[in-house]
Amino acid sequence: MADCIFCKIAAGEINARIVYEDPDTLAFLDLNPQAPTHALVIPRRHIPRLTAAADTDAELLGKLQLAAARTAKALKVDGAFRLVTNNGKAAGQSVDHLHYHLLGGRKLLWPPG
Ligand code: 5GP
Ligand code: ZN
Repeated sequence: MADCIFCKIAAGEINARIVYEDPDTLAFLDLNPQAPTHALVIPRRHIPRLTAAADTDAELLGKLQLAAARTAKALKVDGAFRLVTNNGKAAGQSVDHLHYHLLGGRKLLWPPG
């Protein structure tokens, strides 16, 4: 989608530190990390947020989960990490392209703020 930062990263038009990729998904380091390890795991195809996903996206959403687990392994935080999506502005979503934050490398508090 035009004017979507994450679509541009997926297309290679904006640089990012890519840490995992496959034909359907991509993971790259967050520009403003909130933990020693902070990656964003996204579908290559533009879906604005989780609640915008359709029944036909079920396979892609499954692949996204597996991509997150593989990213955690690649970054050596698979023993302990958090996977979270901010769905909607009031939940903290600032980029309207579905993404999971993968956070690790420090003690993570619960509940999150
Ligand atoms: P949200 O606030 O939508 O849940 O998360 C968006 C995330 O994208 C933020 O953590 C922000 O730091 C990150 N971000 C925004 N623009 C860029 C960018 O151009 N490159 C990278 N690598 N991360 C970005
Ligand atoms: Zn997009």
